[in-house]
Amino acid sequence: MTAPSSNARESWDDYFMKLTRLVASRSTCLRRRIGALLVREHRLLATGYNGAPSGLPHCLDVGCLRQQRKVPSGERSELCRAVHAEQNTLLQCARFGLSTEGATLYCTHFPCAHCAKSLLSAKVCRIVYEEEYRDELAQELLDQAQGKITVESWKSSRGFTEIST
Ligand SMILES: [Zn+2]
Ligand SMILES: [Zn+2]
Repeated sequence: MTAPSSNARESWDDYFMKLTRLVASRSTCLRRRIGALLVREHRLLATGYNGAPSGLPHCLDVGCLRQQRKVPSGERSELCRAVHAEQNTLLQCARFGLSTEGATLYCTHFPCAHCAKSLLSAKVCRIVYEEEYRDELAQELLDQAQGKITVESWKSSRGFTEIST
């Protein structure tokens, strides 16, 4: 085994973004697997994926009305029992008493408007995401919060050879 060269070390953004893929692999959504992390000062505060509220059966097990009714992407999210990944990270912090102020959210996808609102109110100050997800209201809210929150699209500098889902 050769010692890794210093430039082989993962950047924080690459490190946490790769973890979002691993977290997403636990998702129980029938539509889209989403993984999110809340991080502060390079420390992981919480992980979240989209799935049913704690202790309840998942869409994977009991079906999903959005899926059955073939609701288009981005519409009628209230029909699904899943809590969104981003919200699960905030709720985990609430449960364990961790402040989310100034935290960074790493997420596989651009947040929906519900999650964008929650993240803004929780004073998360940076969002890093990989996959685009069209939500006009989310975009508008995040644009209006410029200066309070930065939103960055992330592209892997080295690919996802280690973790793929
Ligand atoms: Zn569902
Ligand atoms: Zn959401």
